[in-house]
Amino acid sequence: MPKVQTARGEKAPFEFSAATEKLFGEDFSEEGITGDVKIFGEVEDVGRCFVVRGRIECRKSFTCDRCLTQATENQVHEFEDEFDKSEAEEDLIDVTELLRDVLIAGQPMKNLCKADCKGLCPECGANLNEGDCGCDKLIIDPRLATLEDLKME
Ligand SMILES: [Zn+2]
Ligand SMILES: [Zn+2]
Repeated sequence: MPKVQTARGEKAPFEFSAATEKLFGEDFSEEGITGDVKIFGEVEDVGRCFVVRGRIECRKSFTCDRCLTQATENQVHEFEDEFDKSEAEEDLIDVTELLRDVLIAGQPMKNLCKADCKGLCPECGANLNEGDCGCDKLIIDPRLATLEDLKME
């Protein structure tokens, strides 16, 4: 359970790293974020509350939604949140929930091995990132169709 030290009337930096499952529990591995998570940040006492801000660095392993290959990606997530002073116990703030929420909210809708992943051929299932399989593609990319039209004029 990561907790960060507050500083009365000033800023207190923090930095720590730990295994994902230690920070968030075994079930968190479903997100595909594995290995060590690094967290850098600071706690600022702004009078009425504590502001906790910083950056999470992690590594994600996943199956590409388009071509189904295994891929890994380094991710950086920025965070900033306010904590009521009553939430600090003995000058420590528990940031587990905050970090967990930031990581989950920061995941893309689609997991792609690269932004322009070409996916699999709908005919033969070949990975089109590795080259053209030679099949006639029934589904023509609308952007390519426009180019075809232009050539015919
Ligand atoms: Zn892919
Ligand atoms: Zn094919």
